[in-house]
Amino acid sequence: MSQHRAAGNRVTPGNAVRKTGASPRAKHRVARRNTPSSTQIVGLTAALAAAAGAVGFSHSALSSPTQANTAVNLAAASLDNGSLSGITTARIQARQLATRDSSRVVLAGQDTNKKQAAAAALAKARAAKLNATNALTTNRASALAKAKLAEAKKQRESLNRCEMMISGYHITATFGQGGSRWARKHTGTDFAAPTGTPIRAVMRGVVISADWAGPYGRQVQVRHADGTVTWYNHMSKFSVSVGETVLAGDQVGAVGSTGNVTGPHLHFEVRPGGGDPIDPMPWLRSHCGLNP
Ligand SMILES: [Zn+2]
Repeated sequence: MSQHRAAGNRVTPGNAVRKTGASPRAKHRVARRNTPSSTQIVGLTAALAAAAGAVGFSHSALSSPTQANTAVNLAAASLDNGSLSGITTARIQARQLATRDSSRVVLAGQDTNKKQAAAAALAKARAAKLNATNALTTNRASALAKAKLAEAKKQRESLNRCEMMISGYHITATFGQGGSRWARKHTGTDFAAPTGTPIRAVMRGVVISADWAGPYGRQVQVRHADGTVTWYNHMSKFSVSVGETVLAGDQVGAVGSTGNVTGPHLHFEVRPGGGDPIDPMPWLRSHCGLNP
């Protein structure tokens, strides 16, 4: 389909002239008669518009020297210009939108990259902080542990600190008791416990005797700072030698049944100044805060 036919069918100025065989004047009239109505212009321009893309605008088809053709020409040109400008505007707008959208995408991408970088930096900083905190905690824990050890050592080395001589015992005889096993009165406190149970120095001191002692069996004597001597008797073994310094809680031997006994137990004595024995229980309470 071309506008040649469209123009010829609708307006046909040449045919009209030929049919009437008119003079230039008549020709002029016919041409005036054939001036296309607005409906015809619309139809023509629509056809022109439809064909515009495929064939292109052909001025020769509308070049007949008539007002109609001039009008059509103008109308078509006007429409075409309008269409073109509309299309162009739409295309520009579409391009702008696309550009804007792609800009947005780029911006969004940059934004995401920035966010990711920031998040990574934050995570790195947090990790570093955590490491520092952990290191600090470790250092503090280490320092605290060292301080505790030092304090414990100091405490342990303290002259007056006490430790219970034995654990897992029960008292079977108290100081001053009479009985067939003792010549006069019982000179200490008996702590019954299984053979081999560790026996420990009650306070810091120096071992002044570790020997067999007749009815006392294996015996260790420890002299403390204030001159008090404590005795550990009936032991199955020695854990220290004479001259050795022991701290409170250091093992000096083990529970046994050596000497004059009816069963395994620790016979514990307290002798102030190395003299006569006193009741160990009040001494343990007043000197050591222990209440066996
Ligand atoms: Zn006893």
